[in-house]
Amino acid sequence: MNLIDGKNIASSLKNEIKNEIDFIKSHNDSIGLAVIIVGEDPAATIYLNSKKKLATELGIDFYEYHFLENVTDDEIIDQIKILNNDNKINGIFIEMPLPVTINKNKILSFIDPYKDVDCLNPVSLGMIMSNIYSFAPCTAKSVMVLLSRSNIDVSGKHVVILGRSNVVGKPLALLMLNKNATVTICHSKTENIENISKTADILVVAIGQKKFVNKNFVKDGAVIIDVGMHRDIIDGKSVLSGDVDFDDVKNVCSYITPVPGGVGPMTSVCIMKNCLDAKINFG
Ligand code: NAP
Repeated sequence: MNLIDGKNIASSLKNEIKNEIDFIKSHNDSIGLAVIIVGEDPAATIYLNSKKKLATELGIDFYEYHFLENVTDDEIIDQIKILNNDNKINGIFIEMPLPVTINKNKILSFIDPYKDVDCLNPVSLGMIMSNIYSFAPCTAKSVMVLLSRSNIDVSGKHVVILGRSNVVGKPLALLMLNKNATVTICHSKTENIENISKTADILVVAIGQKKFVNKNFVKDGAVIIDVGMHRDIIDGKSVLSGDVDFDDVKNVCSYITPVPGGVGPMTSVCIMKNCLDAKINFG
């Protein structure tokens, strides 16, 4: 079994992004990422701060827009329209979770698809479906980058994806299809999920069920990508685990992403990569 080292791959990608940004800045140009956050959700605040740290490290100008929980959809949309027309801003990101009072799909649909670095406007998702150049949602993109940088070609392979969320499973299925994989998607109503999973050359698990996948789901020599992320406090320490029972499958699969250290470290780097691509392609 080989580990797919997300930390290491994320670190190389980060260096490549930094070099390109240094080049842009050496020509007295700049690159900017705008993040909108609403309310005081602790997880959203942590995500925002880690994006800010990474962007600053890479030389991306970071603009944050904080709104109170009682903001209206229209006030956020007005801000998005200003950012869409601001040449300093190459990427726009809305931090999740949003308060339930906000119509998430409505506000996301106002982000300019050419600045939509997490690809959440339905138009951006439609561009993936039509295989037109577009960004990809950061978690789905992370999976593709981890595979390609581990020299695992998906073309012609049977890829089984467990989970059909709009942010992971569905866009990932399209990205895989665009790379000529044969794709099966399973979800909570799928019958015989073990048998279907067992036919996968590449098994991607994104269902939000801790250690759900054991060796009964895995064909000998399959590649496993574990997107799941679960945090427990054990003996006062924070312990992360995935949707895959790593110890149970490790002697059956050929490659696997660990949790932590697999998909997780890649996601925010992929946002920055999308922001850089926005600058280079749509400037
Ligand atoms: P989600 O929106 O809750 O979607 C879960 C999907 O899994 C749904 O399609 C659901 O089916 C399916 N599902 C749930 N239980 C199932 C079961 N027993 N058998 C088969 N399918 C089942 O979750 P998500 O946002 O896609 O996230 C999935 C996991 O990835 C979570 O653990 C999350 O924490 C993690 N995640 C990690 C990262 C990262 O950076 N590593 C990023 C995003 C998400 P239905 O559609 O039928 O309900």
